[in-house]
Amino acid sequence: MAININKNYKKIQKNYIFTQINLKTEDFLKNNPNIELLKLGIGDVTRPLSKNLVNIMKDALENQTSKNFKGYPPETGYDFLKNAVTNYYKTQNINLTKEDVFISNGAGCDVGNILNLFSNINVVVQDPTYPAYFDSNFLYGNKITLISVDKCNNYKMLPDNLKEDSYLIYLCSPNNPTGATLNKNDLKKWVTFALKTKSIIIFDCAYERFIEDDSPHSIYQIKDAKKCAIEIASFSKTAGFTNLRCSYTIVPKQCKVGNNSLNDMWNRRQCTYFNGVPYFVQKGAEYCLSKNGLKECQKNINYYKTNAKLLKACLISAGFEVLDTNNSPYVWIKCPKDYTSWEFFDLMLNKYHIVGVPGCGFGKCGEGYFRFSGFGKRTDVKKACEEIKKLQH
Ligand code: PLP
Repeated sequence: MAININKNYKKIQKNYIFTQINLKTEDFLKNNPNIELLKLGIGDVTRPLSKNLVNIMKDALENQTSKNFKGYPPETGYDFLKNAVTNYYKTQNINLTKEDVFISNGAGCDVGNILNLFSNINVVVQDPTYPAYFDSNFLYGNKITLISVDKCNNYKMLPDNLKEDSYLIYLCSPNNPTGATLNKNDLKKWVTFALKTKSIIIFDCAYERFIEDDSPHSIYQIKDAKKCAIEIASFSKTAGFTNLRCSYTIVPKQCKVGNNSLNDMWNRRQCTYFNGVPYFVQKGAEYCLSKNGLKECQKNINYYKTNAKLLKACLISAGFEVLDTNNSPYVWIKCPKDYTSWEFFDLMLNKYHIVGVPGCGFGKCGEGYFRFSGFGKRTDVKKACEEIKKLQH
């Protein structure tokens, strides 16, 4: 019998958005080797890790003598990090057990891997959004309901007009790419909807530490959310771990589909497929959740947020339509005139030497929009602001 390939690969774009951007910028640099580009595209951290954090990880490696050498880590994480995570939630008045916590090597992986627990489902995703949500569901052959968000609905996906049915619902707050943040009332609406329709929410809070208003950092701040929500968080953007790789996924014991415990199923899945995050990385992550670690991480977060605020202010004063939020490292704008996202990308690259991300990379409804990232260097941000002033329209 022939090997059948997964034909769903034909349903997604051939290249991931950042691959397309890299190809274009490489091409530009080949023809213009002396031009330095201002990189405000990819959401990747640029600030170095703190000395204390590096020393903790160094010690974790050096102290592994033959007596306490570490082999495979526990598949779902060391207890010391799970306890640090549950203590972090306690500061938000949320009680979790360490069995609810699964340490993983990335929110991006878990967003897709979690689909292993379900079969033939209806999925609700906002458009535009983090592309991994719809790409992974296309690959699993799931039915996807896309809900467009724009100025008319404050860039927020809410259940108000959603037909009652059981769905897997992806929420991302603060949102990538828009930066829109769901407040307590918004999340209450979603939890009520999920409980009523026997839906499950995947709450991606990869940017929770960027929130500066009173919006919830966790969906478990909403009563009964543990019965219907899985939360995915990451050290990537909050602690600079995009290279180190460490994240945590919360699957509460109470979270069930019928009589099936999603916690038991996820535990089984992780123990089968995943061999854990390195000890020294988990020691580093534990430090990042300590009092000092949290303070040090917040310094870098504030640096990125200041970048985003500088960009936002200069875009607003240049007359751009900008989503006004202070909870995000990203700035989401409407392209001027009738530029498509890629036309605006080309203009920014070729004339102003700024690299951003075309909004259409986040979904069809992102067409005509553009995302700037605050994760770049301050010097690049300031130079970009000078260039943006020339774009007055
Ligand atoms: N979730 C969102 C919303 C993101 O924007 C990203 C990365 O940009 C991720 C998850 C991926 O995080 P990780 O580095 O932990 O895989």
